[in-house]
Amino acid sequence: MVSRVIPVEPFDLVIFGGTGDLAKRKILPGLYRRFIAGQMPANSQIVGAARADLDTDGYRALARAAIEEFVAKDKQDEAQIAAFLATLNYTSIDATGINGWSALRTLMRPGMVSAFYFSVAPSLFGAIAERLHEHGIANPDSRIVVEKPFGRDLATAKALNAVLADHFTEGQIYRIDHYLGKETVQNLMAVRFANILFEPIWKAQYIDNVQITVGETVGVEGRGAYYDKSGAMRDMVQNHMMQLLCLIAMEPPYKFDPNAVRDEKLKVIRALDPVQPADIVRGQYLAGGGQGGYIEHSENPASKTESYIAMKVGISNWRWMGTPFYLRTGKRLRSRASEIAVTFKAPPHSIFGMSDSMHENVLVIRLQPDEGMTLTVMIKEPGPGGMRLTEVPLDMSFAEALGADHADVPDAYERLIMDVIRGNQTLFMRGDEVEAAWAWTDPIIQGWEARGDKPKGYDPGSAGPDDALMLLHRDGRRWRDIR
Ligand code: NAP
Repeated sequence: MVSRVIPVEPFDLVIFGGTGDLAKRKILPGLYRRFIAGQMPANSQIVGAARADLDTDGYRALARAAIEEFVAKDKQDEAQIAAFLATLNYTSIDATGINGWSALRTLMRPGMVSAFYFSVAPSLFGAIAERLHEHGIANPDSRIVVEKPFGRDLATAKALNAVLADHFTEGQIYRIDHYLGKETVQNLMAVRFANILFEPIWKAQYIDNVQITVGETVGVEGRGAYYDKSGAMRDMVQNHMMQLLCLIAMEPPYKFDPNAVRDEKLKVIRALDPVQPADIVRGQYLAGGGQGGYIEHSENPASKTESYIAMKVGISNWRWMGTPFYLRTGKRLRSRASEIAVTFKAPPHSIFGMSDSMHENVLVIRLQPDEGMTLTVMIKEPGPGGMRLTEVPLDMSFAEALGADHADVPDAYERLIMDVIRGNQTLFMRGDEVEAAWAWTDPIIQGWEARGDKPKGYDPGSAGPDDALMLLHRDGRRWRDIR
């Protein structure tokens, strides 16, 4: 087995919003895990920046608490935590003010890779980008990392791109979609492009349909005000599910290079058909199981925001004409399970004369709860009694198949932050990709807003609204049963 970890150079990473929820839950714990894995050079420096009046000791205490809460207990080693905390500094800065910037400039070390994580509201991106330049803190090789949501429609995404482009080149901007940092999602590319097996039949002629499911059991408790302005379409489909769809549908890039991969993804987005109202089902979870419904969690008692969406999407190009892509995602569903299922067509003729026992092969790429892949194949049922066929899974759970050395795969955020330091943009969205995704999404949202469409109620713990079943029934198909 070939194993090659590309080393990371020592770096200065500034986290604007370093005291916020994302920094505490993902960024700081992720950096600590890379540190103990030996991937973060000890002479690297992490600088937290926010308005809170903390000193460096106070910030280290905040980071320690975050590690204790969000890192697995068996990874918490006192000596390692102390060594990691020693790499942390803090500067109190108001993104829109004048104080703190010269202190930050003093902390930055010339000649180091420098990265700035904008873990703050997008309304602050412009102010931070401007001040990083005004105070001579960023250089032409510095990288900036920005989070979702990247706009709420095409106009706002364009405005954000323009604000960033005023101070940074596209090659310096890392737009995070953490789904792209998932091990299985990258494996999808490996399976497609490092094996001869699948690519010749990866087309409408042999693939009956593709289903992409992202199911959550949690609701929007505590985030109702934010979610009400977003909904499942903006929160999940426009970004995460669109990225998954692109990786399944794209043509082979000429090499595994950031722009080659992103060019191919962009072509997929541009080939997406407009979605007709009859091909979309929106849902909103009702009260049940002792918990309030979406409406109780929203600040708007008449909210029409969808907590569930299912849709049928077509791609008008030579490879995919005629193969539907069915997407569904929702909150308070029966299971927290996410997968991509590629269903191949049944063989055209059964030599066994048992056509009803001929099943389609299905390649399932599981993202959650346990990452892995399964391919169902037909075999002969063992034993006497003639030729009877049965379906069996060829199962590949990554942790099991690759052994202990690979069982501890990095979390998506860890991998992506290290890619920023390495200067590798392959797993980050390019500005034109984001804009193309919004250009496809906008008319869909505008359509239901203009019609005043209301989402259908669905029971918590169910598979979503009944109408979503019809979306496939009318095509003679059904959703995969996900548990
Ligand atoms: P948050 O908990 O509200 O934290 C915001 C951070 O920004 C705090 O550290 C806050 O500290 C700082 N901040 C606010 N105003 C500032 C100013 N004027 N100058 C400097 N710092 C300021 O938000 P979050 O959940 O961490 O989210 C951060 C970003 O990540 C947002 O864009 C969000 O959409 C995105 N995101 C978050 C998650 C998540 O799981 N949390 C997931 C995906 C994307 P002070 O108040 O002390 O200044």
